[in-house]
Amino acid sequence: MKDKDQTTIYSKIFNSTVVAIGITDINGKYMNVNPAWSNFLGYSEEEAKKLLVSDVTPKEDRKNSDLNYSLLINKKVPSIRTTRRYLCKDGQIFWADLHVTALFDEDGKLCCILGLFVNIDPQKKAEENLEKLNSQLSRTNLELQEAMKKLQAMARKDPLTSLYNRRVLEEAIETEIRRSSRSKKGLGVAMCDIDNFKIVNDTYGHDCGDIVLVQLAKVLRSNIRISDIVGRWGGEEFLLVLPETTVKGAMGVIERIRKAVSEMRINCSEKEINLTISLGMSYQSENPQRESIVAEADKALYRAKKDGKNRGYCYQELEF
Ligand code: GH3
Ligand code: MG
Ligand code: MG
Repeated sequence: MKDKDQTTIYSKIFNSTVVAIGITDINGKYMNVNPAWSNFLGYSEEEAKKLLVSDVTPKEDRKNSDLNYSLLINKKVPSIRTTRRYLCKDGQIFWADLHVTALFDEDGKLCCILGLFVNIDPQKKAEENLEKLNSQLSRTNLELQEAMKKLQAMARKDPLTSLYNRRVLEEAIETEIRRSSRSKKGLGVAMCDIDNFKIVNDTYGHDCGDIVLVQLAKVLRSNIRISDIVGRWGGEEFLLVLPETTVKGAMGVIERIRKAVSEMRINCSEKEINLTISLGMSYQSENPQRESIVAEADKALYRAKKDGKNRGYCYQELEF
């Protein structure tokens, strides 16, 4: 091929390729740009020749661009492949995949810097969107986990008193029975029922009855150890699970609660309500049994009611 033909082919490639080509001198001043370059950046060839690379680089990226330039002109690297941003004539910014090479003459003297790039803005935007979506998804996941935790906690609580509900109590009894069988330490289960609660409801109204239940729950909770469990068995009946204690210790808890309740004054509808409770406990020192321990607590409670209420009995200390 003749030199002239070759030059024509190179010129055609330069003018028609979709890859942007920008050639600068060692000071970063544009010497030549192709139509693809002009198309991406909005500057004509003539305008481009008055520009420096820094003029088409967003302010915050200039340091990095200068650094790359100095690496090339100081022959530290022969070429650089990087993704960078360009600043267009109209102020818009886009991402490009750039390949820059330092070109040297036959004497090894740097004559110009050749930059070739393609616009990768759509891919970059898609990546950024994906990142945004991913972080949104993580946040939603966290919120969902929190909601699940709350829901699980709610499923374990009685909505009025915030004490454990009957299902949790049943589980706790099973767990503590197993623990007690292993540790050979006794287990106490106590049933507690408000005395004459119907009268409270009838006299002061159902809403006041509810307030009484909430206040009683607080007294129950504040008079037990952290390892003890208290919950609402149903209606105005509460159940206490007292693990790893002696019969004396368990009876002590019951008596303390009974006394605290009898001394409690509840203000409701400008009235002061006082109340008492009866308690029945079963204390099984060896291999406690699920069915009998609750039934015995019930029987002891029944006896406490029969004997005049406002008292706590232990099944094992009663005669039947
Ligand atoms: P006793 O001393 O023999 O236990 O008599 P009592 O009046 O307490 O009788 P009982 O235990 O049979 O009565 C239970 C009452 O508790 C009847 C019911 O209306 C009331 N009650 C149960 N659940 C609730 C509740 O959630 N809110 C209110 N306000 N009252 C309740
Ligand atoms: Mg009852
Ligand atoms: Mg009652």
